[in-house]
Amino acid sequence: MLCQVTQKQASWVWTALRTARLHESKIGEESITDFLVLQLKKAAKGAYYIESFTRPKEKVTGADWELWFTGSSGKWLGLRVQAKVISIDGTRYAQLHYKRKDGTFQVDQLVSDAKKHGAVPLYCLYSYWKAPEAGKLTWPCGTFKKSSRLFGASWMSVNDVQALKPTGLDSLKLVAKSLHPFHCLFCCQGYANGDLPTRASAFLNMSGYSTEESSQLVDEPPYYVAQMLRSQAVREDLIDMPDQNLYRVTVLREADSEESNLSVDSAAAR
Ligand SMILES: [Zn+2]
Repeated sequence: MLCQVTQKQASWVWTALRTARLHESKIGEESITDFLVLQLKKAAKGAYYIESFTRPKEKVTGADWELWFTGSSGKWLGLRVQAKVISIDGTRYAQLHYKRKDGTFQVDQLVSDAKKHGAVPLYCLYSYWKAPEAGKLTWPCGTFKKSSRLFGASWMSVNDVQALKPTGLDSLKLVAKSLHPFHCLFCCQGYANGDLPTRASAFLNMSGYSTEESSQLVDEPPYYVAQMLRSQAVREDLIDMPDQNLYRVTVLREADSEESNLSVDSAAAR
């Protein structure tokens, strides 16, 4: 279920950005993420539970997105995400090496903020390109057949962003080599058996997303996630959370039955 839904959403982003490029009209990453979360909610139908919360703009300066996954194992996995959209001409990710007013790089802040909350830092890139523009790409998914549309939403590791940082380069041709389709983190076979946090954690470890600082599967989510789950009303407490950069928190709990639908054939399926 999560597999179909996440693929459909990546494909939707691809189409939306193609339309935007055709009409020379910019769509920001926040708008894309808003729709992505809405579509994930709409498609849940009992296969998973999803709750998402955005903090008032006046309380935050950054736009980080945390995703917290859990499932039948009772374990939790947190992702601390920076979303970036491809430039309107489809040539680069202009904000990839964003430098803050105080001279620090956003990527370094992302890594240290993720560490504070026990989450894994990573990038989510929203893209559309015409076939030759990304150069020759090796399809990084072994479970599903190649489709450029599935790169509409993709992950990129902070390790790969850090590696490009000294050069300041952010071209599609360079970045595209580092991308993993969105769905791979949720459902690709060959990484691990088990529930959503277990599979996602295996994907991160085996695809170069681990950082020295980041812990992965944990027994308890952060307090604000627990609060979100407890009651709608106490979500207001999130407003007082001392994290200037955290704009959105999304919790995804996979239903028990979902897991049994995913059988892992062999490591070759990777
Ligand atoms: Zn995959």
